[in-house]
Amino acid sequence: MPVSVMEEKRILNDGTVGQAAGGKGSRLVYVGYNVKQDCCTGCQGCLEVCPAQCISFGPFASINRSFCVQCGSCANFCPACAIEWVEETVEE
Ligand code: SF4
Ligand code: SF4
Repeated sequence: MPVSVMEEKRILNDGTVGQAAGGKGSRLVYVGYNVKQDCCTGCQGCLEVCPAQCISFGPFASINRSFCVQCGSCANFCPACAIEWVEETVEE
């Protein structure tokens, strides 16, 4: 049974490797939200908006993807645009 992209992201959020996508010979590996630590100013605002309380701090913000529900609140909030959605394509 095919799964939607969102379902793929949920599956892959726990670190398991990806559902085939993009045709034979390639697959997408969704990594999830990531903090670009060189951009983080340390305001800690993302900790306040995270509904899953999965962002820790010290000395920069860091996301525990095992508990992230991928709501995007942190990325939408971050005044430094330091939080990005990371996806990788891996050729097989
Ligand atoms: S909101 Fe952005 S700049 Fe502020 S602590 Fe979080 S990642 Fe860093
Ligand atoms: S995407 Fe949502 S649940 Fe995940 S770290 Fe950001 S605010 Fe928290």
